[in-house]
Amino acid sequence: MLNAKLALKSQPEQKTIVSLSDTVAFGGSQIVIIGGPCAVESLAQMERVATHLKPTPIQALRGGVYKPRTSPYAFQGLGLEGLQILAEIRRRYQMPVVTEVMSIDQIEAVATHVDMLQVGSRNMQNFDLLKALGKINKPILLKRGLAATLEEFVYAAEYILSHGNSNVVLCERGIRSFDSYTRNVLDLGTVAALKQITHLPIIVDPSHAVGKRELVAPLAKAAIATGADGLIIECHPEPEKSVSDAQQALSLDEMVNLSYSLQSLAAVIN
Ligand code: PEP
Ligand code: MN
Repeated sequence: MLNAKLALKSQPEQKTIVSLSDTVAFGGSQIVIIGGPCAVESLAQMERVATHLKPTPIQALRGGVYKPRTSPYAFQGLGLEGLQILAEIRRRYQMPVVTEVMSIDQIEAVATHVDMLQVGSRNMQNFDLLKALGKINKPILLKRGLAATLEEFVYAAEYILSHGNSNVVLCERGIRSFDSYTRNVLDLGTVAALKQITHLPIIVDPSHAVGKRELVAPLAKAAIATGADGLIIECHPEPEKSVSDAQQALSLDEMVNLSYSLQSLAAVIN
């Protein structure tokens, strides 16, 4: 059975707080909502997102610049130019930003431009990447592999922790199953179990879990009711024009409305 030395609780009340900035932290009394597009497409796009989300309960922004795409012919992300856009938005709007890192050689550039490095589902068991991320001190958002067991997920976190970085936030983003109506199946049972056995904060990504914008809000609410420490949700100024994951992107107004409902819900659940 699970023999992770660092990720598991040593007593029931143990909790790790992972700070994203002076005012935003995962695992504390407040839920953290991260919003933004699947991919950074331009500075103008990110300005529209940040302007809209800044005055709301959404505390952090997302946007991929190194995109793990199924097809090598699909848009692969803006790379360094995208990192510069994120850094500019972060500075101008004073909002922390999160983006995915796909390889060891990207770590340095990503870590100097953003506040939190995301390990995507497809890289959850890229052990060399996990070890290298263990050697930096920035927060890591570790997404569950698309077919990873709870045990494999916890051990992936353990790789980062055991190499020296204690700032790990877990993210359930849906697992593969037999039904293609929804993109994946949101595994809230595992969220509840992880809350019980690990001291790490855990957030939920309902966008990749369900893959359809009209189903994002109910899953987001269910995640908060289950005890998740936050959410990462995709939204776009012109959702249907998104270069990736268009079907699951909320409009900016939908994103903002949802964030207020989630805030009220979290107050009731607490
Ligand atoms: C993403 O967050 O855009 C992404 C690719 O997520 P996942 O790794 O969960 O598929
Ligand atoms: Mn996406």
